[in-house]
Amino acid sequence: MTVTRNTALAVVLLAAFALPRFAHAADPCQLEISGNDQMQYDQQVLTVPASCTQVTLTLHHTGKLPREAMGHNWVLVNAADFNTVANSGMGAGLANDYVQPGDKRVLAHTKTIGGGQTTSITFPTSVLKAGGDYRYLCTFPGHNALMRGTFKFG
Ligand code: ZN
Repeated sequence: MTVTRNTALAVVLLAAFALPRFAHAADPCQLEISGNDQMQYDQQVLTVPASCTQVTLTLHHTGKLPREAMGHNWVLVNAADFNTVANSGMGAGLANDYVQPGDKRVLAHTKTIGGGQTTSITFPTSVLKAGGDYRYLCTFPGHNALMRGTFKFG
């Protein structure tokens, strides 16, 4: 009786631990993107289903250059705010990760990282509207010309 019960409990526990790990691999609410020393993201479109209540984005810098020379971040904005956020971000400097402190037009952003580094952020999708027109960019000075993409939610 006790043995059976413990076995059953063990199975339940195993399932509980195994499931999230399995789900992680294909979790549509978890995004990954890389930037390199050629000032490029490896993805031009990122898509998140409306069923996600929050999104975790992980940014990898696959290059070797330090963040002072080739820093990358990932900044999410409404398409209409792209240029304003890009321009005010440049002036904010590395100390602020090239994001103007308190800028409400910035829906989410990572830190600015250099070669070999990885950073990630988790943000609620309540800042988004399904079907909205969103863009992401790197706000390191001069990078947004190449480092930009479309973010689809819904
Ligand atoms: Zn960059």
